[in-house]
Amino acid sequence: MRSSFAILNDVTKCIGCEECVAACQKLHKLTPDVPPPRIETATDGLSSNRWTSIIRRPGGVFVKKQCRHCLEPACVSVCPVGALQKTPEGPVIWDGDRCIGCRYCMMTCPYGVVRFTWDLAIPSIRKCTLCYDKIRSGEIDKPACVTACPKEATIFGTREEMLAEAHRRLKAEPKKYIQHVWGEHEVGGTSVLYISHVDLSFLGWTNPEKLSGVDLPTTTWDVLKMVPYEFLGMGAVMGSIWWVIERRMRLQREQSAGRLSNTDEGEDES
Ligand code: SF4
Ligand code: SF4
Ligand code: SF4
Repeated sequence: MRSSFAILNDVTKCIGCEECVAACQKLHKLTPDVPPPRIETATDGLSSNRWTSIIRRPGGVFVKKQCRHCLEPACVSVCPVGALQKTPEGPVIWDGDRCIGCRYCMMTCPYGVVRFTWDLAIPSIRKCTLCYDKIRSGEIDKPACVTACPKEATIFGTREEMLAEAHRRLKAEPKKYIQHVWGEHEVGGTSVLYISHVDLSFLGWTNPEKLSGVDLPTTTWDVLKMVPYEFLGMGAVMGSIWWVIERRMRLQREQSAGRLSNTDEGEDES
């Protein structure tokens, strides 16, 4: 098992074939959006069923967009019920069953990648997981999008390896690349890195240059303070309701499985 998971996207190599998008949808059993979701307003191609997308820029430039798996993820820091988690290896994963739908993570993500299953009766968040569970279980040895890429425009390794490879390429071909590794320092650093021949500032909601070297959880309040107190209070109430409902459902599951003794039942229902 690798000590850390990271992806390096080389924009100069991408041909926009979207094999990566299709491979992600296939592996994670995501139904293609036909017709596109009505409420999704984003124009970047991401949706609850598309965890990575290809942004088409002028001049035949194609840029793969996905969760950056921040080293200090703002989404994790604001979730009131722990539905998002930072794993020891780096990927930021989510648990749809825990999500209470407050969407603080969507508001605070600096890259605007978190999506919501608006079409479901009980909606929750979705986003790229860096294929964490499937790599950990040994089902695959690298993310599906990486395996599918015919141009090696996206490669997988440890963050140290990806940073070293990025700087090796910048040094080897200084005229080809802008001398910058996107994600090395922005918002405290990310596990999905980019090198490119075009400026990639458009990839963030906030300006990553302004946030260079600053981890977002320390500035999360700057975003959250714009949220009315009523909503923050509502989030706390919803969190409590979720906790009660989830506890009751868990008890029902355990009771139907016959795992609770009479004594335990009495204690849990008190
Ligand atoms: S890019 Fe957004 S969703 Fe992904 S880890 Fe960073 S803050 Fe969370
Ligand atoms: S890393 Fe996995 S989940 Fe993320 S975009 Fe690639 S295939 Fe999809
Ligand atoms: S599979 Fe590779 S070349 Fe094709 S769009 Fe995705 S990153 Fe670009």
